[in-house]
Amino acid sequence: MSMRELVVLGTASQAPTRARNHNGYVLRWDDEVILFDPGEGSQRQLLHTTVTATDLTRICVTHFHGDHCLGLPGTIQRLSLDRVSRPVAVHFPAEGAEYFARLRHASSFHETAELAVTPIETDGQHIPLSCGTLEARRLRHPIDTYGYRLVEPDSYRMLPERLAAYGIGGPAVGELQRVGHLDLDGRRVTRDEVSVPRPGQRFAFVMDTGLCDGVYALAEHADLLVIESTFLESEAALAAEVGHLTAGQAARVAAESGVRRLVLTHFSQRYADPRRFAAEARAHFDGDLVIAEDLTTVQVPPRRVPSAE
Ligand SMILES: [Zn+2]
Repeated sequence: MSMRELVVLGTASQAPTRARNHNGYVLRWDDEVILFDPGEGSQRQLLHTTVTATDLTRICVTHFHGDHCLGLPGTIQRLSLDRVSRPVAVHFPAEGAEYFARLRHASSFHETAELAVTPIETDGQHIPLSCGTLEARRLRHPIDTYGYRLVEPDSYRMLPERLAAYGIGGPAVGELQRVGHLDLDGRRVTRDEVSVPRPGQRFAFVMDTGLCDGVYALAEHADLLVIESTFLESEAALAAEVGHLTAGQAARVAAESGVRRLVLTHFSQRYADPRRFAAEARAHFDGDLVIAEDLTTVQVPPRRVPSAE
């Protein structure tokens, strides 16, 4: 069975605390293992999880503020140390290429691992994956920032009992899938008659932004949304000024976008009690709510049940 889950490495914005490491997240999604925004200490945080550096297939960076990228040097060097033999894809805002170049070669090491670097150049850039599409959308922050979402296309699941009832088997099944119908003794059997819809799943990652169109585009119908809520409503003016979200704003985005499971993270060190984020978010969002904690795992919810035929 395929595994789809988020492994939380760290949840602190700007400065780590005793309880929270700098940001860092791993998404396990079928054959993709994507590291998002590795802050300082991400390499060591990985050791406390079941993810290893050699598992990583891809690294996505939203922007080049330190809490989102200072873990790159250690993580990248670790790929070579562990002799990762296949290329690891890397994405980041193209405007930050100079920062990436420095972080990649921050110190001397024996480089053997291959990075397949594809910077994000445009809003809405699509990167095709075997499990769907990775899409980048521009966010609103003092430096160039992109959020990401992974979209699995809707498809369908063939029903063996219905295929059997029509006497369809072998290569005819493939033809029916390809063409969409099959002519049997003067009767046409359509794919809809022998299958049920299989709704695609969506994961969205929204970091460091004020409210903008990109936030909504990424969050739309996400099964799992990971979104920054650096501040509480009491600091709403400051949040707007520095390009961040409050817990209430993030929760309203989730509610308006039909999000199923909401993960709030990237908390300012000024707040000692994480329950305050839950209280503010709960006022706007009644779906599954997770206030992220370091070294925890959040499952992507089970696939939506297809609407009745
Ligand atoms: Zn930032």
